[in-house]
This record gives sequence, structure tokens and C-alpha cells, in this order.
Amino acid sequence: MDATEHEKIIIIGGGPAGLTAALYAARAELQPLVFTGMTLYGQVSQTDLIENYPGFPEGITGMEIGEQFEKQAVRFGARVLLEPVESVDLLQSPFLVKTYTKTYEAETLILAMGSDHKKLEVPGEAEFAGKGVSYCATCDGFFYRGKDIHVVGGGDSAIEEALFLTRFANSVTIIHRRDALRASPLLERRARGNPKIRFLWDTVVEEIKGQEKVQSLSLRNVKTARQFEVSTDGVFISIGHVPNNALIADQVELDDNGYVRVDWLMRTSVPGVFAAGEIADPYYRQIITSAAMGAAAALQADCYLNEQNP
Ligand code: NAP
Repeated sequence: MDATEHEKIIIIGGGPAGLTAALYAARAELQPLVFTGMTLYGQVSQTDLIENYPGFPEGITGMEIGEQFEKQAVRFGARVLLEPVESVDLLQSPFLVKTYTKTYEAETLILAMGSDHKKLEVPGEAEFAGKGVSYCATCDGFFYRGKDIHVVGGGDSAIEEALFLTRFANSVTIIHRRDALRASPLLERRARGNPKIRFLWDTVVEEIKGQEKVQSLSLRNVKTARQFEVSTDGVFISIGHVPNNALIADQVELDDNGYVRVDWLMRTSVPGVFAAGEIADPYYRQIITSAAMGAAAALQADCYLNEQNP
């Protein structure tokens, strides 16, 4: 293993929060080092068309906006490495950040690891992952051309996924555990107006079944307790997210749902460690709010460095 490298600021995460933090830190001449993990641009890369990021009235794809974020940060001196962080040690100062190949010291750290898809945790889900169970319509939708598929969830993500899947599928049935959607009225209107979309209300998935790949779902109506089975070619699970806190779970304060607690200056419970984006945001989870948190975290990290080295 190479000798330890010293950095003023390390940013863990290469989604909108991490890359915006990198832009601001780079413009403050801190030469930030960003570790993106293996999913370049984070969840945004799995989003088809983004229609609610200001400045793009015609919309922009997730990959394109990720590339633009990176390009802009790199232009001012950020270094972006497609490399997962293996561990961090926040008890030492400077903080230690280890990847598989190197150990780094960082005077300040921004946690921007985002969140991941929540699992249904029913029998068959893990077994058929990639064989008819998916968490990403833009990644896998293409494989369901002409098929009859199901989407689980009633939030904005589930409805967006369902709408996207209608480009390929013959039919898309949304399974929701209540009789009212959580999704915005605009998305609901689009879904209700789409002839390929049907709804199964008050219904939960109890098991995902198949042989080589998914063939059917065992369902239960939560109001009548009726159990029944539907055949399906695939199921897209879109029931929310869990924060990617594994690296730091026992080192910074988390809320009851595992999100990193930050104050309005993006400070975590460890001085010098800031957090931004979906790892610290169970409420908004928008590209623009993540980016804004990233900007604030970098500005505060710069203040922190100035206070430490007056
Ligand atoms: P969400 O709003 O938390 O919705 C999750 C959905 O999954 C809810 O309908 C929930 O049911 C259901 N659910 C949760 N756990 C379940 C389980 N174990 N079994 C069955 N169903 C379950 O998550 P999201 O849709 O990913 O959205 C997250 C945030 O991102 C939201 O603030 C959303 O507005 C935002 N977002 C915005 C856009 C956009 O503006 N274009 C797009 C995507 C996401 P209940 O309704 O019964 O709780």
C-alpha cells in the first residue's frame, strides 16, 4: 500500500451533493478529492428525464446532468476518482479515509454518500434480483418490451417508474398498500390518464415467485385480507430509500431512520465533518436540494479550514 496522502478536503460521494460540494470547494481553491463509489453520479444517473431542475426547460437526462456537474467541478480543479471508500476514521484528526489502494488524511470531510433503494424484504426478492426483480426502470425497462409488469409503491418515484415503463411494456400495474397515492397530483394525473397503467389498491406483495425468473406475485388485500396471485413478467420495487450510512454509522450522530444529523450549517456531530444530500435528507430528496446542501457544506468546510489555520 502507498504512503498516506494529505488532503485539505475529501468528499465521499459523486452525486449532485458531492459534485456541487466539489465545485464550491474547487472554486475556494481547496483542490477537493472526490470519491464517487461505483455508481457514477449516484441515483441521478438512473433517472431518465429530469424536468424539475431549473435552467433546463426541456428537461435533461440524469447522465447528462451528472456529466455537467462533474465537468464544472473538474474545470476548477476538483479531482474525481471512481473508487469506493473502504473505511473512514473520524476519531483521528486529520481524518483517515481508506480506499482499496491508498490511505488519505483529510483536514475536513464532506459525507455525500446518498441513499439506496429500500427493499420489500419478502421471499423471492433477493433470489430473483436481476431475474425479474428490479429497482431501476431506466436501467432495465428495455428488457420488458411487450411484457406485463408490476410496480410496487405509491410515491413520486413509483409513478415516474411506471410512466417510463409504459414506453416498453404492454401493461404496467401499480401495486400500492393504500388507496391513495403519495405521489404529486401532476404525476398521478399522468398515470391515471395512461391507458397502459392499472392500479391494485390496498395491496401488498407477500412473495415473489418463479422458476428461472419471476413468474407471479402472491398478494394480499390489506382491507379484506384476501390473498391472491397474479402472473407477471417482472416487478419494479420503488418504495423509498435508505441512507448509505455504513461507512460512518457508529461515528457520527444519526436520526432514528439512519440519516446523518446535520444542523443548518451542514455540520455533523463531529467537528470538521459535514454532510450533504440524501444521506442527510429524508425530506426533499431533490437534485436541487442535494446540490444546495453540497454548496452549503463546502462553504462551511472552507470556513472550518480558515478557523483551524487562521
Ligand atoms: P416515498 O415518497 O417515501 O414513497 C414511497 C412509497 O412506497 C410510498 O407510497 C409508500 O407507501 C410505499 N412503501 C414504503 N414502504 C413500503 C413497503 N414496505 N411496502 C409497500 N409499500 C411501501 O419515496 P419516493 O417515491 O422514492 O420519493 C422520495 C422523495 O423524492 C419524495 O420526497 C419525492 O417527492 C421525491 N421525488 C420527487 C420526484 C419528482 O419531483 N419528479 C421524483 C422522484 C422522487 P405509503 O404512501 O403508504 O407510505
